[in-house]
Amino acid sequence: MGTEASSGTKLLSICGDCARPGIYEIKLGTPLSEILSLAGATDVQAVLMGGAAGGFVPPGDFGKPICFSGVYSVSGAVVVFNQQRNLLDAVAYYMEFFCHESCGYCTPCRVGNELLKSCIDRIRAGDGTAEDKEYMLSLAGVMKKASRCGLGQTSPNPILSTLTSFPELYEPRLKIEKFKFNLKRATEEASAIAGHTSLHVKEERMQ
Ligand code: SF4
Repeated sequence: MGTEASSGTKLLSICGDCARPGIYEIKLGTPLSEILSLAGATDVQAVLMGGAAGGFVPPGDFGKPICFSGVYSVSGAVVVFNQQRNLLDAVAYYMEFFCHESCGYCTPCRVGNELLKSCIDRIRAGDGTAEDKEYMLSLAGVMKKASRCGLGQTSPNPILSTLTSFPELYEPRLKIEKFKFNLKRATEEASAIAGHTSLHVKEERMQ
């Protein structure tokens, strides 16, 4: 049973928005779409593969097989989200879970999860910017490299997978910074208008 690279079967715990949640034993290599159909999941917006620290899979990838060499984690926790669910709320929920679960031993995980959660909350409230998005990507990279154990190394996954596969969750909520203030440029422009010369330029002229 299974495929050449991933032989055998796999137990999956399927829950969420489906008519027949439960424990399923499937042949490795089975496409996710077939499993969703077995569980009676319709109108699916996303599937979280691998539990809270896994990744959100978009409908375009449901035809791919579950196997060790495939794109899906073969961790057995599968959560189905239908079209009525707000995925950003789900991401915020998982980040809150990780903030609570972090043991606090190392800084990247202890502080990083709190910072990621505050970015997500800002974006959900409509106060986030493109800089928040870039910041989350960069911080998630640091957490993955510098956290001491698997919790901190995988906790950014709900954010990273939705940023990659569901960019439409973020883009319409980001504020456009039309009036971002640059102190250095503003000072230079004001000095030029007033005809002021900086001390540095005065010293050069005196030499
Ligand atoms: S990465 Fe692990 S050791 Fe570090 S704070 Fe998180 S749970 Fe604790």
